[in-house]
Formats: sequence, structure tokens, C-alpha cells
Amino acid sequence: MHEAGIAAEILEIARAQAVAHGKARVAEVTVRVGDMSGVVAEALEFAFEALRDGPASGAALVMKRIAVLAKCETCGTESRPGADLVLWCESCGRPLKVLEGEELTVESVVLEGAEE
Ligand SMILES: [Zn+2]
Repeated sequence: MHEAGIAAEILEIARAQAVAHGKARVAEVTVRVGDMSGVVAEALEFAFEALRDGPASGAALVMKRIAVLAKCETCGTESRPGADLVLWCESCGRPLKVLEGEELTVESVVLEGAEE
């Protein structure tokens, strides 16, 4: 299950933040999940909850879905292809470059607790 590896990486980033800032706990982690990232939200949430430990044992996971935004490099037309994911320009028929929607990144980590 590839979400387990992703959840482990997210938790690793969160724990590193707690250590870097000398905080005891991770309260919340916000991730940006692109619609084209291939991540199943429910599976990621399940893996995240199963793998939480240490300073991140009580952390909440907040997922922001990022809709696909694509741009034609030939004529500059931007479009949001939606679920059908047609990545061809409606104006000139050239392939589109995906600007947003493929990412899976940690946007923010909320820490709490006294400094250790
Ligand atoms: Zn075009």
C-alpha cells in the first residue's frame, strides 16, 4: 500500500519539525493532495493514524484536495480538466502542461506543548 510510505514520510517531517522547534507534540499536519497524485485519501488517513507515534501520536491530519490546473504552453490557455483529465488544449489541440494537481506536499505543521 503506497499510502503507508507517504504517511510515514509525512510523520517524519512532522516529528522533525517538533524536534527542530523543541516542542513536545505535533497537533496537526496539513497536506496538499493533488487530484492527480494518485493518493486515496481514506487510505492515507488510515495509514497516518496507524503509524502515529512519539511526538506525533496525537496528531490530526488535514488534507487539502488540489484540483488539477493545466496550461497550454503553445497558446497559454489555462484550464481545469476536472475528473475526465483531458490534457489537450481546447483552443489549439496541443498537449497541456500540468501546473497543479500532481503534488503531495506538507503545507504546515502545528506544534504544541512546552519546550523540552
Ligand atoms: Zn493551446
